[in-house]
Parts: sequence; C-alpha cells; structure tokens
Amino acid sequence: MGVAARQFGRYWLDLGWRRRTARDRRLTLGNSLVGGLRHAMMTRGIPLWLDTVLEDLLVEEHGGAARVTGVLARRHGAQVHIEARRGVILAAGGFERNQAMREQYLPHPSRAEWSATPPHNTGDGIHAAQRAGAALELMSHVWGAPTVKVSGEEKQRAIFVERALPGCIVVNGQGRRFVNEAAPYSEFVPAMYRDHEQTGCSVPAWLVFDATFRRKYPCGPILPGSIMPDRRIPAPFADILLRADSLDALARFAGIDPAGLAHTVSRMNGFAASGVDEDFGKGDNVFDTYYGDTQVRPNPCLAPIGRAPFYAVRIDAGDIGTKGGLATDASARVLREDGSPIDGLFAIGNTSASMMGASYPGAGSTIGPAMTFGLIAADALAGGEAGQGQVD
Ligand SMILES: Cc1cc2nc3c(=O)[nH]c(=O)nc-3n(C[C@H](O)[C@H](O)[C@H](O)COP(=O)(O)OP(=O)(O)OC[C@H]3O[C@@H](n4cnc5c(N)ncnc54)[C@H](O)[C@@H]3O)c2cc1C
Repeated sequence: MGVAARQFGRYWLDLGWRRRTARDRRLTLGNSLVGGLRHAMMTRGIPLWLDTVLEDLLVEEHGGAARVTGVLARRHGAQVHIEARRGVILAAGGFERNQAMREQYLPHPSRAEWSATPPHNTGDGIHAAQRAGAALELMSHVWGAPTVKVSGEEKQRAIFVERALPGCIVVNGQGRRFVNEAAPYSEFVPAMYRDHEQTGCSVPAWLVFDATFRRKYPCGPILPGSIMPDRRIPAPFADILLRADSLDALARFAGIDPAGLAHTVSRMNGFAASGVDEDFGKGDNVFDTYYGDTQVRPNPCLAPIGRAPFYAVRIDAGDIGTKGGLATDASARVLREDGSPIDGLFAIGNTSASMMGASYPGAGSTIGPAMTFGLIAADALAGGEAGQGQVD
C-alpha cells in the first residue's frame, strides 16, 4: 500500500512532466524495454527519424552479385536516399495491416482491422526485400489472438485472460462451443478457423456470460461491474457489450441460434456442478487454472451461467502480428530461394519469418527473438561483417 501511495504521489507531484504528457516518467513492462533502447540511442548520439517511411531498398551490382547499399525513404513527405555503408536491418513489423496480403496468404475470412498491432504494419519491409530477391517463409501463420473492437480505437483489444474465468463460454453462431475457452490465445484463433470451416459461423464467435460473471470479472477494457457498473461504462466500451434479460433474447440480439445456446448453457452448467468439462476440458490443467478464480470450486474455470441480465461480446479472429516473412539465417541475414544470403540485408522481428516455426512456446516468443537477432545483426554490422555470416 505504501509503495502504491508513493508511486501515485510521485506521479501527481511531477507537475512539469505531466504538463508535457500523461505518460509517467516511471516506465514499466514494454515501455521500459523500449525506454532503455531509446536511452542507449540518446547516449550514443544515434539519430531517430520520425515520420520517415521505408519505400524501397537501394541495390547495386558488385561483381555480378547484388548488394543492398541503402534505402529509399520518404521523410516529412520528401524522398530521401539513405546510404548504408555496411548494411540495412529491416524491422518494419509484419503484414497484418495489409488486407491484400491477408487475402493472399491467411485463412479466410481475415480482416486487417481485427489486428491488435500498429496500423502501419503493411508489410513494406517484406515487399522491399522480395523485390531484392528474398524468399518468404511461414506466410500462412499469424500470432493469433482473439480481439474485440472498441469504436474509435485504431487497434483492437486482445482478449487474453477473461476466457479462462469461470462462468463464461465462447460459442459460434449455432450457439455451440468449439474450443476450451481457456486455451492459449495462439491456439484459440486456429480453433475458430477449424470450426468455421465446418460450420461457417465461428468467425466471429461470441463470449457469453451472466450477471455474476459481469459483477466479478473484467472483460476486455470493461472493469468488473462491482467497480464499473453498466451505467458507468464509458460509451465506446459499452458498445462492445450486448445485454438482454434472458438468454433467448440475448441470442436473438447477437444472431446466435437460441436453442443451440440454451442447450450449451445447460450442459456447461452441469459441468460447473461436477467440475469436469466433458467436452473441452476447461480448467483441467495448470495453464487454464493460472487465469481461473481459485475461490471457485470444484473447478476454478467453471461456474454456472444463470443470473440475468446476460451478456455477449463479439470476438474476432485477431492477431498480435503475422508470423511469416523474410527467410533469414542464424545471423539474421536475409536469404534468397536458393538459401544464399543477400549481401548487406538483415531482417528481424515480424519482418522475418519466425524462428519458432509454426509453434508458440509462450509469451516472449516474438520480442525475445526480435531483440536477440537485432543484437546479432547490429553486432555483425558494427564488426564490418555484413553478409559474411560470421557472428560471434
Ligand atoms: C496486445 C499485445 C500484447 C503482446 N504481448 C507480447 C508479449 O507478452 N511478449 C512478446 O514477446 N510479444 C508480445 N506481443 C507481440 C510483440 O509486441 C510483437 O511481436 C513485436 O512488437 C513485433 O516487433 P517488430 O519490431 O517486428 O514490429 P512492431 O513492434 O510492430 O514495430 C514495427 C514498426 O515498424 C513501423 N513501420 C511499418 N512499416 C514501415 C515503413 N515502411 N517505414 C517505417 N516504419 C514502418 C511500424 O509503424 C511499427 O512502429 C504482443 C503484442 C500485442 C499487440
């Protein structure tokens, strides 16, 4: 409590800084990671150009082999050539915001606006390297995460935790469950597509819960009803919540089959009583129960759905980035189809195909490798070894 009070006090009394921005000086989580990188740039006098868009790579022929010698960019609207004596590291994110590429590579239906990522991640780095002869890998994979739309926000919100909590189900348009709601987000989206192939009504899906769940737990940006009752939900957040006095009315409101939903809820309420989800095993492993409610017995991920009003939230087949991209080697060098490296060209993060392949070992599988291969590539450039592949 004392720590929290000190932190609040420090924030509120930091008047000079608060006049500049609402963001605290004290950085935590991802902000502190990026803050550390920014600080390193400042202490080393490395310039940061904002409002500068990569348009293409500059490529020259050297003794019959192509070499990347810089980039063509647009800075404050004007085209600039940036020469790179040693090489270029592409780190422009994935292609999740490029609708045409989604249509071409990802399972359907797929919408750029379902993504929880920066809106400018349109695959520019991938395209530029492709023009220089780069090969692509894993293009049909995303870092999947179910998301919800909050109107007025440029990114959708990923739904990581609430699915595991007791007293909610996720159903398709037939009102049927198709997955363990508590499954890791990376497994959840493929399950949506698998069911959609069979039923044609799982993208989008619906998170359904009752008044008890609403009172106790958060859902997306909406805090538990005990803190944020329905009448106090800010307008853009309130839009995500469909509410009705009966399950039947809720189903009709959301376009879900009412009989299917009634059947599923009754079956799930039986599982809540026995503590065993006979259909999908929700709450039968430690991953599920990590996000469950330990106060709820016998299964911390299962509780009955029965108290009006009832709620539904639309869940899109979103992502926190695409997984496919440029083929690279262990030194982060970009490769051609024949496996040879393109001189002077490196790629990291979601611009490169993930070193994790189609799998997702856990949180950190994206930023960890991005940081690691960023270091490897920068080391190679600093040592003047670009394109030589020798990185210690
Ligand atoms: C809600 C959420 C939670 C996450 N949690 C985790 C987690 O716990 N652990 C983890 O490892 N990962 C997590 N991730 C994933 C992780 O944030 C991304 O995988 C990672 O940021 C990708 O890094 P990147 O550098 O490849 O791309 P990004 O961080 O997306 O950065 C790409 C940048 O390139 C810019 N850009 C695009 N095109 C151009 C162009 N032509 N010219 C100039 N700039 C351009 C974009 O504007 C953007 O700023 C999470 C993501 C989200 C959305």
